[in-house]
Amino acid sequence: MADCVFCRIAQGEIPANKVYEDQSVICFLDANPASKGHTLVVTKSHYENFTTVPKDLLSHAIQVAQMVSQACLAQLGATGVNVVTNVGRAAGQSVMHFHLHVIPRYEDDGLGQLFTETLSLPSDQLLLLADSIRQGM
Ligand code: AMP
Ligand code: ZN
Repeated sequence: MADCVFCRIAQGEIPANKVYEDQSVICFLDANPASKGHTLVVTKSHYENFTTVPKDLLSHAIQVAQMVSQACLAQLGATGVNVVTNVGRAAGQSVMHFHLHVIPRYEDDGLGQLFTETLSLPSDQLLLLADSIRQGM
């Protein structure tokens, strides 16, 4: 995709602070990091998001994210990591090319919990929700 920023990084047309690269994925530092070492794991082929990546490639990407996470824990003094992927604008996806965020976490980094607001739903609604999801799988 000519106008996709991550395709252009994967093809070497736009510079990035590269962390890792192999045949199918490239990892580089996020330009707007949430924490020190915030890294993106990006498939070299263009898929819109997590829900449309072929399973084998997704498995590889998550294994690479594990490697990056281990390196952040070992090398950066991080004591935790959030691995996140956003699907769709409602979820905050801004680059429509699949990627995983590896966000190293540090004691008192101020980022807090990912989910601060929670819903309290009645049990009949929980049953319906679980049923709907089951039917879609
Ligand atoms: P998302 O909101 O999940 O789509 O995440 C996209 C991420 O890509 C954001 O955190 C941006 O800061 C990051 N980003 C966008 N353009 C670049 C770029 N040229 N180099 C590095 N990171 C980028
Ligand atoms: Zn792309």
